[in-house]
Amino acid sequence: MFKHVLDKVSKEASGEIALNYVAEISRHHRIQASPGLSDAVAWAVDAFKANGLEAEVHSYPADGRGYAWSSLMFKEWSCVDAELELVEPQEKACFLARWRESKLSLIQRSHPAGPVTAEVVHVGKGEEQEDYRDLDVRGRMVLTDGDVQRVHRLAVEERGALGLIYYGTWVREPDTPEGELDDALKYTSFWWAGGEKPGFGFVLTPRRGRWLRGLIKDSKRPVRVKARLDSSLYEGVLDNAYAVIRGTTGEQVVVVAHICHPQPSCNDNASGSAAALEAARVLQKLIRAGELPRPRRSIVFTLVPEMSGSYAHLAARESEIPGMVAAVNMDMVGERQCVTSGSFIVERTPEALPSYVNSLMECVFKEVTRDVKNLGGSSSYALFRHTTTPFSGGSDHYVYSDPTVGVPCPMLIQWPDKFWHTSYDTLDKVDPAMLKRAAVVSATYAYFLASAGLAEAAWIASETFAREKARLLERFRDYVERASADPSDVPRRLGELKDQATYWAEVATKAVESVTRLAPGDVALEEAVAGFMGDLEAEAKAQVRAVTQTLSRVLGLSGVEAKPYRRPQMRKLDREADALVPVRLFRGPWSVRGWDVKLSLVEQDELRRLNREHPEGGSVGTLAMYWTDGVRSLYEVSERVRLERGSTDLEYLVGFYRLLGRMGLVGLGHR
Ligand SMILES: [Zn+2]
Repeated sequence: MFKHVLDKVSKEASGEIALNYVAEISRHHRIQASPGLSDAVAWAVDAFKANGLEAEVHSYPADGRGYAWSSLMFKEWSCVDAELELVEPQEKACFLARWRESKLSLIQRSHPAGPVTAEVVHVGKGEEQEDYRDLDVRGRMVLTDGDVQRVHRLAVEERGALGLIYYGTWVREPDTPEGELDDALKYTSFWWAGGEKPGFGFVLTPRRGRWLRGLIKDSKRPVRVKARLDSSLYEGVLDNAYAVIRGTTGEQVVVVAHICHPQPSCNDNASGSAAALEAARVLQKLIRAGELPRPRRSIVFTLVPEMSGSYAHLAARESEIPGMVAAVNMDMVGERQCVTSGSFIVERTPEALPSYVNSLMECVFKEVTRDVKNLGGSSSYALFRHTTTPFSGGSDHYVYSDPTVGVPCPMLIQWPDKFWHTSYDTLDKVDPAMLKRAAVVSATYAYFLASAGLAEAAWIASETFAREKARLLERFRDYVERASADPSDVPRRLGELKDQATYWAEVATKAVESVTRLAPGDVALEEAVAGFMGDLEAEAKAQVRAVTQTLSRVLGLSGVEAKPYRRPQMRKLDREADALVPVRLFRGPWSVRGWDVKLSLVEQDELRRLNREHPEGGSVGTLAMYWTDGVRSLYEVSERVRLERGSTDLEYLVGFYRLLGRMGLVGLGHR
């Protein structure tokens, strides 16, 4: 159905043109709400226009006070120059950090400082009160590899330290082992919520930081640095680049990519912005030349500061949201995989927002995985790594795909990238062939959806049905495999099978049902969809019977004496959570920055402890947020999370939701 579009788009699209866009964007230092970001956005708008699109800058107040839904707007920040110089011991005197060498040598959003000369004290991580026992940091610079916002609070706000010198980095097994980034600067920023004492800091590479730490340890005299930082935070603007290919109706399809991040940040995310620009150029050219008919729905391109720009865009256009049929988010799509180590991922929408768009995206993506043929020429396959994953979040699709917004938005991303958020994310890590794939997939996906009518809807319904059915079968297969691995666990698996099956069937049928959005009121489509839905439900029931038979036999033959399964009694915590009915007080995902300051210091520590002790809490919390509909109890929300991701964390959710309630992001009703 889309092959003729894909062929034309593939012929026109150029990875090299997209790579030129990456080079242009990466020249700018693109901190959310900064002159560099505005320059990049202005450049992108010009580029859209040069390619024949209608385009403009959308500006929003960046005053550090206003909100877009629950998202606190940043203050605009600019930096002219900054230096950190080691002055004592004199024989070691040298520059430690210079803005002109790398924009990453500074903690972003630092307040102005100096020139000032001060002693350096090493505080280790500096995240706990104990780290400061027997240390006097007042009037001194603290050397740390801990969380800078936390160290700012403990060292600067509570103990009068002057500023920070940070030398931490990422360690992620297996792609980014210890030492891999020893000579890279990590992207580090203050995320001011307002009301904090002003602060500043510099960033050193881990190797340089350890050297300085050693110098402090070994030197008989104090180690002193001279710091100077010429920056300002002020009420300014947050800019989005907006471009549109007009359709013939009021509906639209959105292509979003974040254009922010420090200079150069090529893969993250000059690459996504560049691929979106190339997709726009290609479609505009083909439509103007009459090779593709003008679509019925508009195709909107937004290049935004990550999340904050999407919040601002959507909050300012609530009346347009019902007409947004679907979106796609492009994030880190240009990676040279042999160097950066990741895989190209199609990330699905959350299961609280099941949609046919996942099937369409998978189907289109498959077309760019035919790089070479096997020896006999009987099949073709990719020369790069790729996969499909469930929703994970962390980028602009997190805002669009929130059920309170309701614009289904898969994401194209490459992950992991060992150079992510460091000074090593440079142009040589970007592969034009990858940029081209991303541009082709997003252009084809967006154009297909923008022009989809009855015939396309009929096809995508059957495609979604087939793919959801395959997925359903795969889930049951996996269930049997896992349960068979441990026969003593089979009774529990059998006991939980029905609930899990009902949930899977619901997600699959809703995905198929969502196709009716493309042609509302068409009776033939509704009938076809109802047939597919009935088939999926019947399949799930048949699978429950088959799986029950198989697992019962596995258990019987295993010789394991397993106790019959009894549904666990509700614990005290379960009952407590079942009495709470959380209500979301804002449209769009809750954004905690700016709200956590409403907590007492004890509560802020509680939030920190929760996040530290529950490493999966963030992921559980995001999915729980999507299931929170004002009707389900928190216990029921947590059970939905369990069904979606295989596990949940009610203890975390109870603690977290109580704090969300205290912050004013969630209302907590009782029943
Ligand atoms: Zn990023």
